[in-house]
Amino acid sequence: MTSEFYDAIVIGGGPAGSSAAAILAAKGRRVLILEKEKFPRYHIGESLMPYCYFPLERLGVVDRMKASHFPKKYSVQFVNIDGHVSHPFYFFQHLQHEASTTWQVLRSEFDQMLLDNARARGAEVREEIMVRDTIQQNGAVVGVKAVSRKGDPQEFRAAITIDASGRDALMLARNGWRVRDPYLNKIAIWTYYKGALRDPGLDEGATTVAYLPEKGWFWYIPLPGDMVSVGIVAEKEYLYRDTRDIAVIFQREVGNNAWIQQHLASGRQTGQYWLTAEYSYRSRYCAVDGLILVGDAFAFLDPVFSSGVFLALRSGEVAADAVDAALAAGDVSASRFRNYGDELCKGIEAMRALVYAFYDHEFSFREFINEFPHLRGDLTDCLIGNLFREFKPLFGGLAKFADIPEPLELGKPLTER
Ligand SMILES: Cc1cc2nc3c(=O)[nH]c(=O)nc-3n(C[C@H](O)[C@H](O)[C@H](O)COP(=O)(O)OP(=O)(O)OC[C@H]3O[C@@H](n4cnc5c(N)ncnc54)[C@H](O)[C@@H]3O)c2cc1C
Repeated sequence: MTSEFYDAIVIGGGPAGSSAAAILAAKGRRVLILEKEKFPRYHIGESLMPYCYFPLERLGVVDRMKASHFPKKYSVQFVNIDGHVSHPFYFFQHLQHEASTTWQVLRSEFDQMLLDNARARGAEVREEIMVRDTIQQNGAVVGVKAVSRKGDPQEFRAAITIDASGRDALMLARNGWRVRDPYLNKIAIWTYYKGALRDPGLDEGATTVAYLPEKGWFWYIPLPGDMVSVGIVAEKEYLYRDTRDIAVIFQREVGNNAWIQQHLASGRQTGQYWLTAEYSYRSRYCAVDGLILVGDAFAFLDPVFSSGVFLALRSGEVAADAVDAALAAGDVSASRFRNYGDELCKGIEAMRALVYAFYDHEFSFREFINEFPHLRGDLTDCLIGNLFREFKPLFGGLAKFADIPEPLELGKPLTER
């Protein structure tokens, strides 16, 4: 078995891995992406948030996004159980920048574009190779053990490895580092409709969040080709109360929201129903000597505010800069990634506070803004993805309406073994 040497190995070619790889390769680093699938491949997570613009700009793909057939998303709107629609939250009313227009993407095409971009910037991409484990030397990660689809074992070595393996979360699974968020214990069921109703004009590409009983909710995301992605997120006990058949559960819940029922009536359900449990989690550690975690391989947060792809792109970007500096210093020890972990966790905590508020039975955005109009800007910043700044007053305000959690003491580098 031959072993090849790189500056960085990236496990997984999703948005986090592709962005980290593209940035490192553009800096002249020798980068290898190992991806277990053959792209394009299906993936959930289709609604972007406005601040995705900035990592996409750095990656040089904004023009491709503008020229794409992805529906433009100008807003998000909320719908009560009885079908009453809130005034849409238009991003351009809060952000005077072209970033305020974002997109609903087909992840197969979006992820392919990002992977091709990493390749064009000089990263080597090998698909259909699954990383099974890391190779360690004196307690530090120095490479990976992988297996091709045909079953051939392979080894690759690098100064540093970036775990971007998504919710498979290789390091979390291998080391038992996945810590579930105690209260965000939901499941999601989703499928696709062709020919379902779209709202007119500016709202045609809007994300709609439509409430169900017990603080469950539907997403309704218009996609290219007259398709709509429709999914439910709710507590397991609520969804499984009389059956475990996910198609039956989905159709039963359609009947529980008048807006969803009306919008789907003209459409035809197509393809399979999908299910995921394993909701929000974070890794105990953000890095060990010779390895750093990015995207869902580090943390996953309930998707109600569409933050996942943004956090993946952003963590890939920040990690790439930290890795480049570490390589330049000839020191890839875990402690170099403390700022990376702190910064990422700060952003995740801001979003997490908002997610907790969303699920709190006492909380209403309207009442919150009526009581604290001066916090509207902070709230808006969270919703559009301007997460990496101080939010103390917002947390204080939210705590008057909802049970806001303490920040999790997780995500530091593992500096001692
Ligand atoms: C129900 C649901 C709805 C969501 N909705 C949204 C939304 O509307 N908007 C949003 O922004 N986000 C959403 N998300 C979150 C979003 O899907 C993720 O946050 C995002 O895909 C994370 O990107 P990533 O690059 O970290 O991981 P991924 O996109 O999962 O990429 C990881 C890649 O690693 C590969 N891989 C895994 N293991 C290995 C291995 N061992 N070896 C080699 N390759 C490997 C995988 O094949 C995959 O291509 C949603 C998530 C769920 C579950």
